[in-house]
Amino acid sequence: MSKNKTLNLISLGCAKNLVDSEILLGGLNKTDVTLTQNPEEADTIVVNTCGFLDIAREESVDTILQAAELKKAGNLKELVVMGCLSERYPDELKKEIPEVDRIFGSNDHRQIVSFLTGKEFAKDDPLFFRSLMTPNHYAYLKIAEGCDNGCSFCSIPLMRGLQKSRTIPAIMDEAERLVKNGTKELLVIAQDSTSYGWDLETKVYLSDLLRELNTIKNLEWIRIHYAHPAHLSQRIIDAMAECDKVCNYLDMPIQHASDTILKSMKRGLGQDGIRNRIHRLRSAIPEIAIRTTLIVGYPGETEDDFNSLRDFVEEMKFDRLGVFTYSEEEGTGAAHLDDNIPRQVKDDRKNLLIEIQNEISLDRNESFVGKTLKVLVDQEGENVSVGRTEYDSPEIDNIVHIQGKVDKGNFVRVRIESANEYELIGSIV
Ligand code: SF4
Repeated sequence: MSKNKTLNLISLGCAKNLVDSEILLGGLNKTDVTLTQNPEEADTIVVNTCGFLDIAREESVDTILQAAELKKAGNLKELVVMGCLSERYPDELKKEIPEVDRIFGSNDHRQIVSFLTGKEFAKDDPLFFRSLMTPNHYAYLKIAEGCDNGCSFCSIPLMRGLQKSRTIPAIMDEAERLVKNGTKELLVIAQDSTSYGWDLETKVYLSDLLRELNTIKNLEWIRIHYAHPAHLSQRIIDAMAECDKVCNYLDMPIQHASDTILKSMKRGLGQDGIRNRIHRLRSAIPEIAIRTTLIVGYPGETEDDFNSLRDFVEEMKFDRLGVFTYSEEEGTGAAHLDDNIPRQVKDDRKNLLIEIQNEISLDRNESFVGKTLKVLVDQEGENVSVGRTEYDSPEIDNIVHIQGKVDKGNFVRVRIESANEYELIGSIV
């Protein structure tokens, strides 16, 4: 059994994976393992992998291979792999990279800590309390795991299984502890947050959870990620409008806007349905910033399909937009379709949408010049600090440059003096 191990945890992939890493860190913090940020100093490395999309898989495999090199060189004694990629391809990983000592799934926190420390945990031990890897003032709040939707292009249900929602009391307990420790913004995440609670024995809805979270004292912002347009009900929109802590923000991946492609993707809603949801959102919450994500180059995507998507982007003027090129995922419904759009066409379509969005973003940002906005400071600097408005999520959205030094985690009022596509620049009022 190891004493005084020095461990480096490498967390790859999305915010849901980050929460898993944070739970593991919380467990490790209860042991005599020393944590290091430097893989070369470590005698144990845990890689929390991502298995969704080819680039993410490559990054995960490359990271494991780099760690394997350290093992061959002699410093590293133990290499452990967890997360989505290891859920999906455990045998292949073990066979191809024999330096890996153990492979675990995404939720095997107790087993991993037991393996690393030799300490046993009872099956009914409560989950370890997370040790945040984000700045303390914001934290992701995972409200469910898995997904029932079966979108044709997506392998996440194959890795994470069907939806399992947490109960409202369990989520509230975690949220209250986070806020007591200084968290001011909670970012609600799940594979499909708008389906939250449907699978519980006593069915609840995201709207019920939002109303509960909204009562937490000293919590300032609640931000919702990963809404599915087909499941964005009026009851959720009403709760968002009513709850003063819920940011005027929604991350709602629509994936495409051509009816033919949406049908093949099994998204459960055509273009008119998506338009209707966006209109309902904007009429209930006029200031809302909508972030969306799109896939271009899906099998069989014709010029007409793409034009329909491009026109929709121009019409809807999303506030934030991410574009992915289609990549075939083994075992998914779309994998039997011919991935027939050439790489170059996929890239051109992606670039064209990004260009259109840049103009929309610039217009949007310029409309803030002269206004005063509430900003949460994420990074303090000697001359310039960096923060975000309620219209922006960390890491993926816009930032605000604030003249002068402001302490991280504080809210300040900033008068916006200039803007570009992705940034606002201003001074404290
Ligand atoms: S909603 Fe669709 S894209 Fe999102 S995780 Fe579920 S199956 Fe995948």
